[in-house]
Amino acid sequence: MSTLNETHDPSLKSWVESANREDSDFPIQNLPFGVFRRRGTAEAWRGGVAIGDQIVDLAAAYAAGVFDAAIAPAAAACGEASLNSFMTMGPAVWSGLRLALSRALREGSARAGVLRGCLVAQADAEYTVPASVGDYTDFYTSIHHATNVGRLFRPDNPLLPNYKWIPIGYHGRGSTLGVSGQAFPRPRGQLMRPGAAAPVLAPCERMDYELELGIFIGTGNGIGQAIPIGEAESHVFGLALFNDWSARDFQAWEYQPLGPFLSKNFASTLAPWIVTMEALAPYRSAWTRPASDPQPLPYLDGARLREQGAIDIALEVLLQTQRMRDAGQPATRLSLGNFADSYWSVSQMVAHHTVNGCALNPGDLFGSGTQSGPKPEQAGSLLELSLNGKQPLTLPNGEQRTFLEDGDTVVMRAWCSRPGAARIGFGDCAGTVLPALA
Ligand code: CA
Repeated sequence: MSTLNETHDPSLKSWVESANREDSDFPIQNLPFGVFRRRGTAEAWRGGVAIGDQIVDLAAAYAAGVFDAAIAPAAAACGEASLNSFMTMGPAVWSGLRLALSRALREGSARAGVLRGCLVAQADAEYTVPASVGDYTDFYTSIHHATNVGRLFRPDNPLLPNYKWIPIGYHGRGSTLGVSGQAFPRPRGQLMRPGAAAPVLAPCERMDYELELGIFIGTGNGIGQAIPIGEAESHVFGLALFNDWSARDFQAWEYQPLGPFLSKNFASTLAPWIVTMEALAPYRSAWTRPASDPQPLPYLDGARLREQGAIDIALEVLLQTQRMRDAGQPATRLSLGNFADSYWSVSQMVAHHTVNGCALNPGDLFGSGTQSGPKPEQAGSLLELSLNGKQPLTLPNGEQRTFLEDGDTVVMRAWCSRPGAARIGFGDCAGTVLPALA
């Protein structure tokens, strides 16, 4: 687990002026990684680090000789079209490059002159999924979400008995992951309308989002080798905002007995930036479990978890409908929650996933599961906010929503802020539902 070091110093300022604005997601204390190129070009995809409203082009910085010999191999790996090689190098290397970038981007750095020529404006960039994701696993770590959803489908038995013992998850697919700005047609699938005698194949009628954090695995483990919980976070590269779009009508019809299938794998949207575990060090807090609940089995428990297993990350969902966009109205907030309310931690997900000997590989992605808070207005999906369509939300312009309509854009934002630390953000995760294909 990362400890505080000079890169977290809240008094640090950058010679990139926009990084010093109080509302910037990307001050010098953040330095998240992504993969980008100039928009509309055939340039090679390559790794970059966000600073203010700019990107440090790591391929260009490597070529310009910005980095010392010890750091150069890491920077060279970041010049590739995915971050997998860099992820394989492990936490000491990730941290070394972060420190070198922090020093080079500080006010007064002797490397400012050469590094200035390696900046690309974020406004001129397009992004791709920052790692080649071999396997994607979706967890279900918010007990508030699990209880809310359970109550809608099983009012007398909302939370199943295994929930407080196992970090529940299922294997998904990485083939339809996209990045912020993703637009996709409303999926078609098999759904059973209420009261109908037989299902039909039709465009989804209950289109929803899921507010999640994506967890990128850095270094993997061998087949048969469990990762102990005390080492789990050293295998995690970082976190990215994640919208796991969900077709609730497909889901309700298909999920028994083996769990979600086509209701989840038509599109999932990541924010472009992976915020490293090291950058998140100032925002940690004790992981706790109510004394009245079962305490975790020993392989899911530990001193580090109890001291600082939780992460304080504010999580916001906003909606902009087509009519709002046409009228020039900004997106409106649907919910605000926090990842600290998660019932299971990042380290518990890693330890549980590997306890049977399952191998994780660099670039693998976990979804945290929908993050909902204890209050109804903190719910991370429309399924919960609209009580499965029974209670429409009224938007500021008078429009109503139970589920998403064509043209709706969902925007997710996340940030960490604490006294004595810089405010860092995750960048927008935006996606738009298009009409179903004919
Ligand atoms: Ca999910």
